[in-house]
This record gives sequence, structure tokens and C-alpha cells, in this order.
Amino acid sequence: MLLPNDPQQAQIGQEIAEEFVQAALDALSAHIAILDETGTIIAVNAAWREFADQNNFTNGNYGIGLNYLAVCDTSSSLNSPDARLVGKGIREVMAGIRDEYILEYPCHGPYERRWFVVRVSRFDWYDQQRIIVAHQNVTELKRIQLQLEESNQRLEAILNAVSNIIITLDTNGTIVTANRAMMSIFGYESEDEVLGKPLNALLVEPLDLGKGLLAFCDDHGHELIGMRSDGSTFPIHLTLNKLELNRERYYTCIIQDFTYRKQVEAEIIERERVQVALEKERELRVLKNRFLSMMGHELNTPLASIQLSYDMMKKYEHLSTEEEKEQALDNIQQQVGHLQEMIHDVMTLSRSEAEGLRFEPEDTDLITYCRNVVEEFQFTYHKTHQIEFCCDLRDIRAMLDRRMLRRVFTNLLSNAIKYSPEGGLVQFCIEVDDETQQALIRVIDSGIGIPQEDQKRLFEPFHRAGNANKLPGTGLGLPIAKQIVELHGGSIAFESKESEGSTFTLTLPILSSRS
Ligand code: ADP
Repeated sequence: MLLPNDPQQAQIGQEIAEEFVQAALDALSAHIAILDETGTIIAVNAAWREFADQNNFTNGNYGIGLNYLAVCDTSSSLNSPDARLVGKGIREVMAGIRDEYILEYPCHGPYERRWFVVRVSRFDWYDQQRIIVAHQNVTELKRIQLQLEESNQRLEAILNAVSNIIITLDTNGTIVTANRAMMSIFGYESEDEVLGKPLNALLVEPLDLGKGLLAFCDDHGHELIGMRSDGSTFPIHLTLNKLELNRERYYTCIIQDFTYRKQVEAEIIERERVQVALEKERELRVLKNRFLSMMGHELNTPLASIQLSYDMMKKYEHLSTEEEKEQALDNIQQQVGHLQEMIHDVMTLSRSEAEGLRFEPEDTDLITYCRNVVEEFQFTYHKTHQIEFCCDLRDIRAMLDRRMLRRVFTNLLSNAIKYSPEGGLVQFCIEVDDETQQALIRVIDSGIGIPQEDQKRLFEPFHRAGNANKLPGTGLGLPIAKQIVELHGGSIAFESKESEGSTFTLTLPILSSRS
């Protein structure tokens, strides 16, 4: 019964209203009890009854007639502190101290964890004060809330545990959230000092945010200089990614302290530099030793020969014929020429390494040019070697520095002769590679060949193969040849087998060819 006894004429209307209210209350999912001004339960809804049935709280007529305040005050269940709070809340609402009272409280069953929210409010019913106590089961909501809190806590724990700084920025570049690493690395005491600050306050050189933060979102990130709260600076790596939250655009910003990495990088660079310097130093040492031993060999022979001719002329001048004197002078001149050539070679090599050689190419008829060089050799060595020139083409034109290239062909031909037995065949062949349209010039001999172990170092200055020691040489011809050919945009290679012979192949770019 919601209403007190009223005059006869209002009775019917009130009863209809009462039924209507009851039906409305029954339709609600909250467990509702209506109390009179003393706190006595005067009505309950269907959900209340159902809950009472399920939990064996039938208590006579579902508590109707009981004083709810007394129930709260004397509750001895697990939730009694909450029950007492509810009792206090109801009293405050009854006394008009507050319009409503809301409390969330746990009400766990034997097999299930449950949460409720009780809401107490007041209304007047035909001048009588009535209190509505509505318990709404919010277990599902609570579970979601708890899960959310738990995953937030987990996320926060992860964010705080990572050593990288993770901050969230709004579209203006203002810091909205920051993890613990942010505070410790940038030297701030608390979050409050950081939140609301612009990202640029953390950087020595501010980012130009004219085009927005999106312009800085890329996979590689940015290496920048960070500034701590005390003004000190350190290298950082910053990566930005856009983030959509509740339809709002944010940016996550991951900042790594690069101090250690930069130190390691600097150490690696320094170590590599030292390594290169040591390697260079070792190479120079090897080169110097080879140079000295070459000088020992190669300078001694002409100098001894000059000395001999000189001694002969000086001591036996009165005994020597004019012809003998002439011969001695010729020998001195020849040996001086040889020495000059050697010095020229050393100078060429050192100049080419230091500032590059002077390269003056001209349009040249390659076949005629080579044939002339070969003919000179045929003329000089016709008694000891057979030198063949072979070329099936009529004309090849190429941009050549003739002075330089002469040095290359002379070296290859004189090596082929020097390292071949007397009577040996030396071939000088020219052809054009159809595919690459480059001239291929081969100098082929059937001489002593090059031992396998020396092959990979053959173009190093002063390197001479083990089987060439007894023959004169400086080990400078091939490295010089290589540099000259490369200046022409070509290359030099060889194939060789010890005791069988060698083939040196030059590849040179050409302008045109005709067969
Ligand atoms: P070198 O004055 O010693 O001949 P090069 O630089 O011209 O200097 O050649 C370097 C080395 O390559 C030679 O000392 C020799 O050991 C080897 N070599 C070059 N050409 C030939 C060849 N045609 N046959 C065998 N060995 C060769």
C-alpha cells in the first residue's frame, strides 16, 4: 500500500494511481522499496521480490512492514559498514539534508561476485513523504570497469617500466600524458611539471610545427638534442605516431636517450679510424720495405755498372782505345737512362696516388697506334722473340692519352718478352666485344707464368712474383698500367698458369669500330 487512508471521494483515483505506480515500479530492473516517513517498507517492486526469492530473503512479506533503517543499523552481514552508511544516507535524505544518496557497494553471493548501486531519493505522495530505495545490480558494468582499471594499471606499469620515454601529445604538440621515464630522464620531479608543456620545451632546437606534428611521423624517427629541466643537453631519438582516441587526434611520441648509443657509435668510429690508420701504416711499412729491397736490387746494378765504366776510364785511360772509351760512356748513359726511368716510375705512382695523373685523351686510331708500338718491339727483339700482331678489324677509334698508354703497352710487351724464354712467341691481339662495344687488347705469352699465391697482389706497387726474382724489375709497371687504364675508363686483368704462360687483357672504351 502506497497511500494512507484518505477521504472516500479520492479513494478510487488514488487506488488507480497506486496501481499505475506499482506497475511502473515492477517494470524497472532495479530492486526497489518504498519507505514511509518512519523508514518502514510499505511497498516493493517485482525485481525486489524476485531477488529476495532467489537469495532466500523472503523475510515474511519481502520485508514489507519492516523498518528499513533498523535493518540497516543492525545488519551483521559482511556488508554491514555499507548498510550503516545507507541507513545514514536515508536519514539525510529524509531530513532534507540532501536530495539523493548514492552508494556503490559489493554484495557478493556464495558463487558470484556482485556489485550494486543503491540510490535513495524522496518524493511526496498526497502530502506524505515517501523514500525510494533502489538497488541496481551493476555487476556487469563493474566487471568491465575493473577489467578496464586492471588493463590501465597493467599498461601504466608497462609504460613506467620501459626505459624509453613515452608521451602523448595533442595536435598542438602539448604533452597530455607522460610515463615515469620521462620524468627521470628529463629531470622533472613530478608529472605536473611536464603535463601541459609543449614538446618543443624538451628540445634544444624546436621542431617547426607549421605543418603540424603529422609531418614528423615517419618510420625512421629523428635524431635530435634533448634539453633536461636543468638546461643540460643530451642526444635523443624521437619517433612520432598518430593516434585516434574517441575520435580525437593525438600523437604518441617515443623518445630514446641516445647518450650511450652515441658514445658507442663514437667508440666504434674511433676504433675503425685507428684500425684504418694501423692498416695504412702497415701497408706503408710493407711498401717501404719492398721499395727499399727493390732499390737495393735495381739501383745497385746500374750504379755498379756506372762505377765500373767510370773506374775503367779513370784508371786505364791511357790504355783504353777510343772505341772502348766510347763504349764506357754509352754504358754510363744507358744506365743513367735506366735509373731515370725507374725514378720516373716511382714519381708517376706517387703522383697518381697523391693528386692524380694529368690525363689528356685524344681521338686515336687504336689499331695503327698499337701496330706501331708492336713494330718497335719486333724491330728490337727480332733476334730473341717472335712477336705477332693480330687484328681482324679495319678501324677502331678511341679517346686515348697516347703518351700514357704507350707506357702500358710497353710494359706489357716487355714483361711478356722478359718473362718468356728465348725464341718464345708473344702475341698482341685486338678485337671488339660485340656486347659491350669495348676494345679487348690481349698480350699473350708462353713464359714462366705467375704463381697462384702471387696473383692477387700483382697490381700492388713493388710486388714481384716469387719466380721473377732472378730477372730485373721494380714491380711498378703493372700498378702504373692499372691506373692509366682506369683513367681511360677501362680495366686490366690477367690469366696465368705457372710455367705455362700469361695473358694480360685490357678493356678500353671506344668511340667506333669497323670490320
Ligand atoms: P716488373 O718490373 O717486376 O716486371 P711489373 O709491375 O711489370 O714489374 O710486374 C710485376 C710482377 O708481375 C713481375 O715482377 C712478375 O713477377 C709478374 N709479371 C708481370 N708480367 C708477367 C708475365 N708476362 N709473365 C710472368 N710474370 C709476370
